[in-house]
Parts: sequence; C-alpha cells; structure tokens
Amino acid sequence: MLENYHFTAAERFLRYVQIDTQSDPQSSSFPSRENQKNLSKILVDELKQIGIDDAHLDRWGYVYATIPATTNKKVPVLCFCAHVDTAPDCSGANVKPLVHKNYRGDDIVLPDDKTQVLRMQDYPYLETQIGNDIITASGNTLLGSDDKAGVAEIMDLVNFLQTHKHIKHGEIKILFTPDEEVGKGMAHVDIKKLGADYGYTLDGGDAGSLEDETFSADGVQVIIHGVIAHPGYAKGKMVNAMKIAGHILDALPKDRLSPESTEGRRGFIHPVRVEGIAEKCTIDFIIRDFETPGLKKKEDFLKTLIEETLRSQPGARFEFTVTEQYRNMKEILDGHPTVVDYAKEAIQRAGLRLKMESIRGGTDGSRLSFMGLPCPNLFAGEQAIHSKLEFISVQDMNKAVETMVHLVQIWEEKS
Ligand SMILES: [Zn+2]
Repeated sequence: MLENYHFTAAERFLRYVQIDTQSDPQSSSFPSRENQKNLSKILVDELKQIGIDDAHLDRWGYVYATIPATTNKKVPVLCFCAHVDTAPDCSGANVKPLVHKNYRGDDIVLPDDKTQVLRMQDYPYLETQIGNDIITASGNTLLGSDDKAGVAEIMDLVNFLQTHKHIKHGEIKILFTPDEEVGKGMAHVDIKKLGADYGYTLDGGDAGSLEDETFSADGVQVIIHGVIAHPGYAKGKMVNAMKIAGHILDALPKDRLSPESTEGRRGFIHPVRVEGIAEKCTIDFIIRDFETPGLKKKEDFLKTLIEETLRSQPGARFEFTVTEQYRNMKEILDGHPTVVDYAKEAIQRAGLRLKMESIRGGTDGSRLSFMGLPCPNLFAGEQAIHSKLEFISVQDMNKAVETMVHLVQIWEEKS
C-alpha cells in the first residue's frame, strides 16, 4: 500500500527543526514563548496546501484541522496529536540537522562539537538501525525530534490520506499543541471544538513501542514554622525552620522511594525545591506512583516522617498541602480497550514487533484521557531526547506514518 508512496515526513522534519520553538518554564504567558507560533503558522499553511481547508491557528497557539471521512460507515472520530515546542533543557536555536545516510554502526562525531559522539555502545537501539539514514543535530543543540518527529509524521499522514482517497477511514482531527515540555500543553485546548472520540499522541521512542500507562502524580508543599528570637538571646527559645528542613531531607530514605534509587514500576518521593529563612521554610515535593492509591501511602509516609522529626523541636509546627497534578491514563484506557488494541494491531500490520511501555512521567495524552479523550502514546522514533546526541532515523519516521495509516483503516474496518 505504501510501497510506491514518496514519504514526506523526513523532509518536513528537516525544515521544522530549524525553527526555534523552545518553551520557557519561567514564563507566565501562554504560549510561554510566542516563537512556537512560527512553526504552527507554517503547519497551517502546509495543511491548506494539502487541501485541509479548516486548518487554523488559535490565539493560544493550537492548530486544529480536520481530514474528512472517506467512508459511509459511522466510525469514531480519531485525533492525532503532537507538540511543536522543544525542551528547555538544551538549546533549540539554530539547529542544523545532518543526515547520515546508510548507517554502518560507526561512531557519529558531531562536527560543531567533536566531544559529542554518538556510539552504539551508549545507545544500543542503534543496533536496529544498520542501513538506515540517521538524523542528528550538529553538536551545539538538541535536534527536536521530541516532538517535531510526531508533527512531521502526522503532516505526512495528512498528505498520504489526501492523495490516496480510496483508503477508507472515518473523520480525523489533527491537533498541534504548544508548551508540552513545560507541562501546560493542554491548558487552553478546546476539547469540545476538537470534537474527537479517541486520540493518539505521536511522541514516543522505539519503532513499535506503545505507551498506555503514565505515572499518577501529586505535588506536596510542606511549610515549616520555626520559633524566632534574637540570636543573641535565643538559648532555649529559638527553633530554626531551615535546620528542621535539613533534618527532614536527611531523614528521607536513601536506598528506596527516590528517583535516584528507583526504576520500572516503583514510584518515589522527590524534593524539588527548598526556600526559607530561620522563621519559615518551604519544601516542595513531587510524589509519583503508577497506582494512584500508592500516592496516598507515600504522602502518609512523608507526613509521619515530618511529625517524627518535629517531635524533638518544641514550638515548631508544619503545614502539609497535597495538590493533584495528573493521573495514570491507564485508569481511563482500561475502560476503552479498543483504543489500545487497535494500535497494537496497527503496529503489527506495519511489520513491527510490539513493545508495551510505561512512561515514568506524564504526557499530554494523560491529561487528554482525563479530559474525556482516551489517548495512548504511539512511537514517533525519538531517541536520546533533550540532549545534543538526540537522533532519529528516516525509516522509523516512515514506519510511524505507516502505523497511523493502518490504524485509521482498522477503526473503519471494525466499525
Ligand atoms: Zn514530547
């Protein structure tokens, strides 16, 4: 079906990554940086050129578009979603993408910083890429495959479906979002206007991988109130809130329940910020677990630890505030098993080995799922993301497009 198709994902990708769309966690505006719209405007123009008349950019920086149905059957409306911004961890300005054709397994030295070397021993996934065309940045920046790969692949899907109208599928919605990397990707999305029943984010790694599970996440703020006195006359009176904070941090388990000591399905309690003076000190924690009840257990554990620490500090007291951040999307997806099942089948029809994965973090999809749009995450081919060694292969990108083409047909067949 796609044998004779000239894929456009990689060529689009090489253009998109040269546009700086880095988001900014310090910004209080939305989108966090207006520059994200520079890419979004181009996407709207290109969608219109492909024949998607309703493509538009809203004031918040979201792109919405519709691919009309080609079937008379009643098929649930699907949405494919990707984010245009790149991570603040690594520069995203003046990205110079390089294509290393027909990779033979040799080290790839990035020319603008020769200390940046992509080696198979560090990235074993490269073993699956022999003979493929690898795209990297030039050494000073990230590449931006997270998530411009997803953007380019969805654009290519639109191009394919618009030029192959005999392929039967229901109505498809396209959504490109800003500010995913700063955790606000769904802050201003209009779910009603989008009008989709089920969604797929294209924001994953290895070809064939499918993620239907994220952490559940809470934030905890602990405010410690000490007892203040003139330091010259403080004997037996002063209780220093900063020192209590130090005791609490020191009392946290070191060989478990921390990001440094856990992997796989184990969650953690992680202090992310401390701020204070002798009188009052604030510690912000993030709590993570795949099981939502596990959050409460960790929060109770933390609270008990603080109470025990304060027992030897007469006069000191604390406040403990839990804020819900996001929830494991599996709680929603389990109620809609076809969404994941059809994606598995599409991956297999594309000739790939399925890899089910859990995300030790959140995605736009977890938020979308809880907003009423069940939304697992499909692979886009991204590797070594948020780093100067980020890479992706042209062939993995094409496989992502092929998987989506199968997916829309499976939904039509089975409706
Ligand atoms: Zn991403």
